[in-house]
Amino acid sequence: MKAEDVRESYMRPYDPQYDPLVMATPGQGTGYAPTYWVATAGVPPQDDGPIHGDVEADVVIVGSGFTGLSTALFLAREHGIKAIVLEANQSAWGCTSRNGGQGQNASGRLYRSGWIERWGKETALRLDAEIRKGFQTFKDLVAEFPECEPQPGGHLYIAHREKKMEFLRNETRLMREVFGYDAKMLSKEEVQHDWVNDADSFGAMHEPDGIGVHPLKLAFAYMRKARSLGVKVHPASPVLDVETRAAFTTCAHPAASSRRGPWALLPVAIPATSCTRACATRSCRSSRTRWSRERSRPKSWRPPTSRPRR
Ligand SMILES: Cc1cc2nc3c(=O)[nH]c(=O)nc-3n(C[C@H](O)[C@H](O)[C@H](O)COP(=O)(O)OP(=O)(O)OC[C@H]3O[C@@H](n4cnc5c(N)ncnc54)[C@H](O)[C@@H]3O)c2cc1C
Repeated sequence: MKAEDVRESYMRPYDPQYDPLVMATPGQGTGYAPTYWVATAGVPPQDDGPIHGDVEADVVIVGSGFTGLSTALFLAREHGIKAIVLEANQSAWGCTSRNGGQGQNASGRLYRSGWIERWGKETALRLDAEIRKGFQTFKDLVAEFPECEPQPGGHLYIAHREKKMEFLRNETRLMREVFGYDAKMLSKEEVQHDWVNDADSFGAMHEPDGIGVHPLKLAFAYMRKARSLGVKVHPASPVLDVETRAAFTTCAHPAASSRRGPWALLPVAIPATSCTRACATRSCRSSRTRWSRERSRPKSWRPPTSRPRR
C-alpha cells in the first residue's frame, strides 16, 4: 500500500468549523486547511502513522510544527537524541502550514523602538543579539533546504498613512545608529517602481534582512531530515495529558494504557525519561501509590479545561 493510501485511512477531512483557539480539544487526525501552501507543497513526507500503545523515549515533542520539527532535528543532529513527535492532526497542521512565509529578523509585533521603550536600550541590544543569532540559524536552515524556495531581498514596512512615515524615519535611524543595520527609507515611487505596485503606499522602511519561504515545504524538509536521523513523527496522536512524577514524565494519548484528559493544546518539547507510558515503570507506580496514600496531587502540568469563547 502506498504511504498516501495509508494516510487516508486515519486522516479526517478538513473541518472548517474547527478552531483550536476555542475548541476544548486539539483535534485528532484533522486534515490540512485548504491553503495555497498545502496545494503547492506536494505529497507530505512519509510519517510513522498514529502511535499504538506505550512507548518509551528520551524526549517526546508535542506538535509537529516548526517548533517541534526543528527541535527534533537539532536534538537528533547535535545530541544524537531520537525524539518522538506526537501530532494531534496531520504533520505541520497548525500555523506552520498556514502562515505568510515571511522570515524576518524580528520578534513579535514590537518595533525595536518599542523594545527600548519597554525594556531600555541595554536589554533591547541583548534581545537584538539573540534574534540575530536565531535569524542566522533560520538562514542556515533555509540554505540547507533550498526546496523551500527562499526569496531573499529583505522586508518592507510600508506606510499606508502619511503620519506613519515619520515613525518609520525614526525607526530607520534607530536601526542604523543603535543596532547597526543597513535599513533605509524608500519613497512612494521607489516602493511602487522597485518593489510592489501598492497604490496606497506613502513610502516604506526597507530592512535588508528578510527571506520569504514556502513554509510547508520547509516544514516537510525538516521532517524528512529529522526522520532520516531516527526521529519518529506520529500524526493523529493527540497528547491528552502530561504529568511528571519523580524523575519520570508521562504523556497520555488515546492509545496509551492509561488514558487521561483533558486535552493538551500547547506545542512543547518535554524532556522525559519515560514517555507516553502511563505509569508503567516501577518508579512511576511507586510514586502513584504514594500519591494515592497522601491524597495530594503530584506536580503536574495540565492544559486549561475551559477556554474562553470568542
Ligand atoms: C495567519 C498567520 C500568518 C503568519 N505569518 C507568519 C509569517 O509570515 N512569518 C512568521 O515568522 N510567522 C508567521 N506566523 C506565525 C508562525 O506561523 C508560527 O509562529 C509558527 O508556525 C509556530 O510554529 P509552532 O510549531 O510553534 O506551532 P504550530 O505550527 O501551530 O504547530 C503546533 C502543532 O501542535 C499540534 N498540537 C497542538 N496541541 C497538541 C496536542 N495536545 N497533542 C499533539 N499535537 C498537538 C497542532 O495540531 C499543530 O500542528 C503566522 C501565523 C499565522 C496564524
